[in-house]
Amino acid sequence: MTTAAHPARAAGTVLTGRGVSPGTACAPLARLAAPPVTSAADPAGADARTECARIDDALGAVAADLQARAGTADPAAAGVLEATAAIALDPTLAAAAHQRVRAGTPAAHAVTLAVEEFCTRLAGLGGYLAERATDVRDVGHRTVARLLGVAPPGLPPPGHPVVLTAADLSPADTAALAGSDVVALLTEQGGPTSHTAIIARALGLPAVVGCPDAARIAAGATVLLDGGTGTVQVDPPPAARAAAAARPVAGPGRASGPGRTADGAAVPLLSNIGTERQALDAAAGGSEGIGLLRTELLYLDRGTAPTRAEQRDQLLRILRAFGSRRVVVRTLDAGSDKPLPFLPLGEEANPALGVRGLRTAAGHPQLLTEQLAAIAEAAGEAGRGVDVMAPMIATAAEAARFAELVRAAGPLRAGAMIEVPAAALRARELCRTVDFVSIGTNDLGQYLMAADRTVGALGELLDPWQPALLDLVGLVGEAGRATGTPVGVCGEAAADPQLAVVLVGLGATSLSTAPAARDAVAAALARHDRDTCRRAADLARAADGPAAARAAVAALLERT
Ligand code: PEP
Ligand code: MG
Repeated sequence: MTTAAHPARAAGTVLTGRGVSPGTACAPLARLAAPPVTSAADPAGADARTECARIDDALGAVAADLQARAGTADPAAAGVLEATAAIALDPTLAAAAHQRVRAGTPAAHAVTLAVEEFCTRLAGLGGYLAERATDVRDVGHRTVARLLGVAPPGLPPPGHPVVLTAADLSPADTAALAGSDVVALLTEQGGPTSHTAIIARALGLPAVVGCPDAARIAAGATVLLDGGTGTVQVDPPPAARAAAAARPVAGPGRASGPGRTADGAAVPLLSNIGTERQALDAAAGGSEGIGLLRTELLYLDRGTAPTRAEQRDQLLRILRAFGSRRVVVRTLDAGSDKPLPFLPLGEEANPALGVRGLRTAAGHPQLLTEQLAAIAEAAGEAGRGVDVMAPMIATAAEAARFAELVRAAGPLRAGAMIEVPAAALRARELCRTVDFVSIGTNDLGQYLMAADRTVGALGELLDPWQPALLDLVGLVGEAGRATGTPVGVCGEAAADPQLAVVLVGLGATSLSTAPAARDAVAAALARHDRDTCRRAADLARAADGPAAARAAVAALLERT
């Protein structure tokens, strides 16, 4: 998390990273406490059996601590903390550490090595799981701190506003941010879909990620961070500090109530959900519905496929919590970055381009038909409609086949995610086969730019403000209008309040975000009418890059 000391950057230097959460903040820089370091030369403990038991106790205590924090965190952070706690309880992690202890490695170092082996395996899988390496390392650091009897890594309470910097932030670090003294985030690593980016947007904290030079700024130096442009000025001149102090700290603002534009057009603001707990919290928190239920996240740690009854019962609880509000269930998006242990797909040279999402149904048709049957049963028992969409649809023919299966399963509405450029280019044909579409800008950007969405160094290409990506969204918006098909956006792009205005201008009829991001998006939409949304969309598409698009739209929205 914390890097070694580097020569401090000179006053006035402007560093550049990737702005992932808009707003500006000016405050002294604080660094996360360094994680404990272990070595093979550390003193060996008692016998192997006792040391293995100590490891199990430490992992269990870390999991319990994370679960306790999940209990009091906001819904977005709670889901992340629960998933991290599950890593600490993963028996393969403990087993790998035990094996090393039995070979003579001291307990704390055995955990470090086991964690690194785990991370290497995740990195090999790429995508979503590769990004989880930060979470696994965090579990490792906390476990090691317990074994060594030292303080866990993290931010000591500074007692005054700070810009928090680190190599990258773990879920546990980010979960502690709400209500803390941290006014902005700056990380050396990370891309637009990293936890730092997602949680920063959810909390409305300005954030810049992928800024390697952040390691060179001296702790305590005042920095002026702009989460829109991705710039960080070290020791800014007094005039710039005064101007920053005069601006509101975090730009987006908040508004509750249903999503609508200033001229009254309804734009339902739905929630992206990955756990049952998140769903129940979102329902209780007044969410307008679920726009993306990532069902594969419910089963990532399962060794065997969930039964139809299990799937039905879990969905039924979620449906009941949402009453008559819209719920869009995505069928298992397995493979590539989200391999499911119970779904063997074999080795692939390019998993992101291989058998994933709906494509897994060709080899395992029963998984899809069982899931659809479970959804239909839950809908029937709840006495309400449910929308079901498939991930990774490339052609209208695939969408048509999926829609047929959905409709055969019961009175369900069929949808297609648009996250492959081919699907966007032929959106009109595709829209004619389904009841709705939902644009997954995370994958759409990845495939459009041929840029792995988890690689921080490719952040510029993956920026959701890329005009080429907005062109594709615009094509889908036009297809939706022409065919009368509702067009949702459920990728991370929808959580950026100013980009949300652009997406509506491009034809999005609903948006789905992390629950904590919705009020900021609602506030942005409430300030602008549909004509302004369209003008913002035109300006963004006409720009020659993401930074120019952001700047042009920010200038327009400030004036209107
Ligand atoms: C997307 O690709 O934009 C999306 C919403 O799906 P996921 O992030 O789960 O791949
Ligand atoms: Mg996707």
